[in-house]
Amino acid sequence: MQSVLESWKEPKRILVILAHPDDPEFFCGATIARWTDAGHTVVYWLLTCGDKGAADPDVVPSELCGDRRQEQRNAAAVLGVHEIYFLDYPDGYLVPDLALRKDITRIIRKERPDVLVTCDPKTLYVGGERINHPDHRAAGQAVLDAVFPAAGNPLYFPELMRDEGLQPHTPAEVWICGTLDPNFTHVVTDLWERKIRAVQQHASQISDPENLAKRLRSRHTPDTTLENPRYEEVFRRIIFS
Ligand SMILES: [Zn+2]
Repeated sequence: MQSVLESWKEPKRILVILAHPDDPEFFCGATIARWTDAGHTVVYWLLTCGDKGAADPDVVPSELCGDRRQEQRNAAAVLGVHEIYFLDYPDGYLVPDLALRKDITRIIRKERPDVLVTCDPKTLYVGGERINHPDHRAAGQAVLDAVFPAAGNPLYFPELMRDEGLQPHTPAEVWICGTLDPNFTHVVTDLWERKIRAVQQHASQISDPENLAKRLRSRHTPDTTLENPRYEEVFRRIIFS
């Protein structure tokens, strides 16, 4: 990562587009902290407010939505994120259709990021214990479909240019988190506790904060030792030539 920061001579504008509040912190919170510490600008766009993130049938989705927006702001503040926006698609029902692709194309053209972060739509399950949330797959698919070829090509959604004055834009790099197919490893040992602190801001999603911290601390690399713990976040990094 140090070599990436060294090669990024100018301050970068980094756009994170993911499905839910808490996705950025869980997926790549330490990396986001590294970037803001180094003077880069990080902006979140979350496609839903996570209004189904509860198992209690008496929960009022609009109230949960409000709570989760605030939790997301608190978590982002821990990481030094500059701006947060919500697109307010219904949680759990995200599909990578043309309407979503157009909305994301609009965001990319407005924000004009140097680096775009999303998650891997190919991750259907993780190990033998977890199915990836369908919103994560839908978000990743819709974002990648918007990055290429729509956002950079004026013939896609021409009304965005005609009616809203949004010029085509393609980010220089895409960083895909939540992937089982990484090509880039970022060592983030020094930022792991900060990531945990950011994740813990999502109080509505956590029944036992101490247990969660313990679980996250156990996600060290296999070669880690008690004296020398090592933590990583991995990505599929695509650099357009
Ligand atoms: Zn999620």
